[in-house]
Amino acid sequence: MTNFQVPITPPEHAAGLSNGAVVKGNGSEIPIFYPATGQQIGTLIEDGPQDVDRAVAAARKAFKTSGWPELSVEKRAEILEACERIILENIDELARLECLTTGLVMTQIKSFHLPRAAYNFRFFAQYISQARGERYDNTEGYMSTVKREPAGVAALIAPWNAPLALATMKIAAALAFGNCAVLKPSEQTPYSLMKLVSLLNDLLPEGVLNLVNGRGGVTGAHLVGHPDIDRVSFTGGTVTGREVMAAAGRQLTPCTMELGGKSANIIFASADFDRALDSALLSIFSTNGQQCLAGSRILVETSIFDKFVDAFLARMSRIKVGDPMAPETEIGPIASKSHMERILSFVDTASKDGDRLLGGGNRIDDLGSGYFMNPTAVAAKSNSSTVCQAEIFGPFASFLSFKTEEEAISIANETEFGLVSYVWSDHLPTVMNVSERMRSGVVWVNTPLTRELRAPFGGYNNSGVGREGGHSCEEFYTEEKTTTIPKSPLNPFQFGMK
Ligand code: NAD
Repeated sequence: MTNFQVPITPPEHAAGLSNGAVVKGNGSEIPIFYPATGQQIGTLIEDGPQDVDRAVAAARKAFKTSGWPELSVEKRAEILEACERIILENIDELARLECLTTGLVMTQIKSFHLPRAAYNFRFFAQYISQARGERYDNTEGYMSTVKREPAGVAALIAPWNAPLALATMKIAAALAFGNCAVLKPSEQTPYSLMKLVSLLNDLLPEGVLNLVNGRGGVTGAHLVGHPDIDRVSFTGGTVTGREVMAAAGRQLTPCTMELGGKSANIIFASADFDRALDSALLSIFSTNGQQCLAGSRILVETSIFDKFVDAFLARMSRIKVGDPMAPETEIGPIASKSHMERILSFVDTASKDGDRLLGGGNRIDDLGSGYFMNPTAVAAKSNSSTVCQAEIFGPFASFLSFKTEEEAISIANETEFGLVSYVWSDHLPTVMNVSERMRSGVVWVNTPLTRELRAPFGGYNNSGVGREGGHSCEEFYTEEKTTTIPKSPLNPFQFGMK
C-alpha cells in the first residue's frame, strides 16, 4: 500500500454568488473523510437557506442580464468546448479530489469518468450546433414557427458515487440550452465539483453557474423547493427522489429523476462465454460496485450456471482491492463506513433468506482503517430474496439460474426498478425477444456500460422519471414557444359591426 497522502487543502468555496464574491456558508461544519484511511481530510461549510436564496438570486440575475440565454449558438458552443479543454487540462487535480472523497480508483477516474465529464461538454456543444427549427404553413394564410427557449434557472442535484461524470451531464446540458444553474454536490463528496465549478467560472459569465454545499435535507431541500427554480434535475436514491419530486411538485417545477437500479444481466448458453464473463465482472465491480447501472442480478442459463459461476469466482478472487491511487488497484474502498456496514449487512440478510454465500462478504481488516471489503457473490434462493430486490450499491453480485427465455424475462422484470438490462446471446431471435420485452430504459446487448449520449438514458418504474441525453435534455431544459404570423394582413372576425 502506498502512503495515503492527506490532508488536502479543499478548493475554495465556489459559490458564484453576487459580484463574484467568495461567500462562506453560515451553516454547520460537515467533516469530509478519505474512504481509504477513514481520516478526516477537511471540512465543508454548509450553506443555509439564505445562502441558497442568494445563489438562486445570482442565477436569476445572470439569466436576466448576463446575455447567456441570448448568446448565439456558435459562441455558446465555443465556450462549452473551452469547458471540455479546461477539464482535460486539470485532469490530475480533478481526479485527485474525486479520488480523495469517493475512494474511486484513480485509473478508472482518469480513463472513464473524467474523459466522459469532458466529453459531456463537447457533446452538447456539437448537439446545439446542429439544432433545427420548426415552421408550419398548414393554416391558410399563416405561418407558425416553434422556438425552443431556455427554461430559466435549473437546480442540479448530484450523488456521491461518480460526482464529476454525473454532474457534468447536468451542467453541460443546462448551460448548452441557455439556462443558468445552481449545483448541489453530495455533502460527502463536494471537492471535485467545487474545483470544477471554480474552473468553469473562469470561462462563464458571472452567476451563470453557481454552487451550494450542504446536506440534502437542509441545503438540497431548500433548493429544490425554491419558488424561483424552473427545473430540477436529480440523480440519487429512489427514496430521496420521491421527496425531491414532491417538493418540486408543490412549485409545479418539472423534474428529471435518475434513481436506483437492480439490473438483470442475463447470460444465455448461446452467449460468447468469455465476453459475457468479462462484462459480468466489469458491470458489477467497476466504480467500486457503486453504480446505478450495475449488473447486480446475474441470471445464468442452467446448462452453463456452474461453469460460469466457477469462472466468475476464480476471477473475483484475484481482483486487487486496495489503495485507490495505486495503478494495480481494481476496487478501492467503499465510500463511507456506514455504507460499507450496510453492504455487509446483506450477507446476514442473505443467510436468513436461505441464499448461499459464494465468496467475499467481509471487511478487509489488514488494509487498515479504510472502508475496504472483499468483492462478494451470493447464489440467491430465488428472485424474492432481499439481495435480488434491494439496491445494495456495492461490489455484491447475486446469482440466479433460469431454464427458459420466458423464465429469464419474468425474473428480470420482477423488480421495483427498471434502469438497464444486459442481454448476452449470439442467437438473434433470443436477443430480439428478450431485449424487446425488458421493462427497462436501456438494454445493452452483448456489451456492458455503453452510453450513447444522443439516446435517452433513464429508468422505468422506481428507477426514474424522464430521461437524460441529447434530445431528452433539449426537451427538459427548454420551453417551446409557438409564434403565429399572417403572411399578409388579414382581417380578423369582427365583433360590434352589426
Ligand atoms: P441520495 O439520494 O442520498 O443523495 C443524492 C443527492 O440528493 C445528494 O446531493 C443529497 O445531498 C441530495 N438530497 C438528499 N435529500 C435531499 C432532499 N430532501 N432534497 C434535495 N436534495 C436532497 O443518493 P446518494 O446516496 O448520494 O447516491 C446513490 C444513489 O444514487 C443510488 O440509489 C444510485 O442508484 C443513485 N444513482 C442513480 C443514477 C442514475 O443515473 N439513475 C446515477 C448514479 C446514482
